Amino acid sequence: MKIFCIGRNYIDHAKELNNPVPKQPMIFMKPPTAMLRDGKPFYYPDFSKEVHYEGELVVKIAKNGKNIGLEFAKSYYNELTIGIDFTARDIQRRLKEKGHPWEIAKGFDFSAVIGKWIDFTDAMKSSDIDFSLEKNGDIVQKGNSKDMIFLIDDIIVYISKYFKLQIGDVIFTGTPAGVGEIKVGDVLNGFIGEDNLMHCEIR
Ligand code: ZN
Repeated sequence: MKIFCIGRNYIDHAKELNNPVPKQPMIFMKPPTAMLRDGKPFYYPDFSKEVHYEGELVVKIAKNGKNIGLEFAKSYYNELTIGIDFTARDIQRRLKEKGHPWEIAKGFDFSAVIGKWIDFTDAMKSSDIDFSLEKNGDIVQKGNSKDMIFLIDDIIVYISKYFKLQIGDVIFTGTPAGVGEIKVGDVLNGFIGEDNLMHCEIR
């Protein structure tokens, strides 16, 4: 099982971190041990002083595929949820300055929170999907799939050029603006539309 993540897929988020808007999808990966599921708490890691939440739509791959054509991309995913791409921003900043890979800032244990899967119906695939993240009851991030720079189908095509997609792989599709720090005691809830699909307490 592979966890793919897309960086800078919303213009407003690329701007808030002073990053250029990419011309191709920016891909990174987390190992399977990064996954945190079923409402389990997140334990603040001792190696960072600045862990950020990034609330994102997450899709699950439904069949194996390589070099997938755009016209077939929709048939390769069938489940959707909201997740959090936890990021050790202080470490990421140091690595970016040196031009080094990001793995320890992004792929550490339990850094990929995944909510409850729902069917990604054909009707949903052809319309906009609203999602939001609440911290301690306040909405901190609001996004809509139509604002992605690279749409889910484009991402499927691009990733499958380089990596064989396999059943059960997941893709974090990027975060909108509003990322921020977590503290011990915070409670995060993720929504698609009105449905609360993800709950994560910080301990
Ligand atoms: Zn992210």
